[in-house]
Amino acid sequence: MVRLNENYLKLPGSYLFSTIGKKVAAYSAEHPDVKVIRLGIGDVTQPLVPAIISALHEAVEEMGHAETFHGYAPDLGYAFLRETIAEKDYQARGCEIGADEIFVSDGAKSDCGNIQEIFPADARIAVCDPVYPVYVDSNVMAGRTGEYDEKTQTWSNVIYMPCTAENGFVPQLPEETPDLIYLCVPNNPTGTALTRDQLAVWVNYANSVGAVILYDAAYEAYIAQEDVPHSIYEIPGARTCAIEFRSFSKNAGFTGVRLGFTVVPKDLKRGGASAHSLWARRHGTKFNGAPYIVQKAAMAVYSEEGKAQLKDQVAYYMRNAKVIYDGLKEAGYEVYGGVNAPYIWLKVPEGMTSWDFFDYLLSEAHVVGTPGSGFGPSGEGYFRLTAFGNYENTVEAIGRIRALKK
Ligand code: PLP
Repeated sequence: MVRLNENYLKLPGSYLFSTIGKKVAAYSAEHPDVKVIRLGIGDVTQPLVPAIISALHEAVEEMGHAETFHGYAPDLGYAFLRETIAEKDYQARGCEIGADEIFVSDGAKSDCGNIQEIFPADARIAVCDPVYPVYVDSNVMAGRTGEYDEKTQTWSNVIYMPCTAENGFVPQLPEETPDLIYLCVPNNPTGTALTRDQLAVWVNYANSVGAVILYDAAYEAYIAQEDVPHSIYEIPGARTCAIEFRSFSKNAGFTGVRLGFTVVPKDLKRGGASAHSLWARRHGTKFNGAPYIVQKAAMAVYSEEGKAQLKDQVAYYMRNAKVIYDGLKEAGYEVYGGVNAPYIWLKVPEGMTSWDFFDYLLSEAHVVGTPGSGFGPSGEGYFRLTAFGNYENTVEAIGRIRALKK
């Protein structure tokens, strides 16, 4: 009898957000008149900007005529978009990245989850802790685990790099040498970022030990501070050790439209094989191209009109971030993030776990956030709020949390 991939059985039974969903549904069923405000899930709420809507309309119209109809897209992405990305996101910032090193996809989640396929089954991974759960889960599915320790909630083959208030949320170089290093900057969930100098330490380290950095820059558009790089390729040496993931979800509201891309430099080689060739082969075999309509819409992200509209949209969310950050700080909480990212990370009151605080906020302030322990063992004792809500609800939610302290 065939067996199924039992590595899947090693995954935590219930995904973080489904547990939250169930708790909120149960609470709302018991308290139907209470307005619950959700500052939990990292989905955007503002509509697509007009420049993107009109690009979508034009592309839809083209699809209705034989002369301008488009079937399968090139599996690596249309040249018009790859060239624009290379020029505007990279060359304009002084990064040496060519259009043929850009791989357009349906979003960063797929790419972050799939990238492990081009590395060996016994590759050792290092992850920041806490972190976006996809990195560990996709490696667990592929069997790169070892034993699970219930007490520490860690896998023996995974190197966890704690990022806490004590080390300023900056991962320290690990004692054991990893093969793959996942870095998410600006970070989900802590909302913190790495400076150029801090990132250079990792690039030098990866080159010196032969490791590969998998750099998730999904929140790049929210970077506000000068010394935080927008791409890992701003760091000398990154072309030989780093793969970068980008997404249109949070900079352009594409969470429901779906588009992202991955950069694999041709200089990234290990043991005689080229990561670029392997990823091109993998992408071409398993992905049939992002829709023409969506790639045309992405072009509007780079137009003058689109850029101005999206700058306002990012500013809208970052105004929420400030409301949350300042409000919680004034209420006496220890608060982090919220400057280069739409996430605010706060320390829960002494004596409470992350889930205790979740229950407390839901029942007392009717506000939903995300318990830090859902992002890794070092997330215990912390809590994430997101700036992706609408402004009025965000102000109301923070007002309610502040009122609890009085
Ligand atoms: N990477 C990080 C760190 C994220 O937080 C998210 C979405 O929440 C993604 C990737 C997924 O992005 P996409 O919508 O492009 O799949």
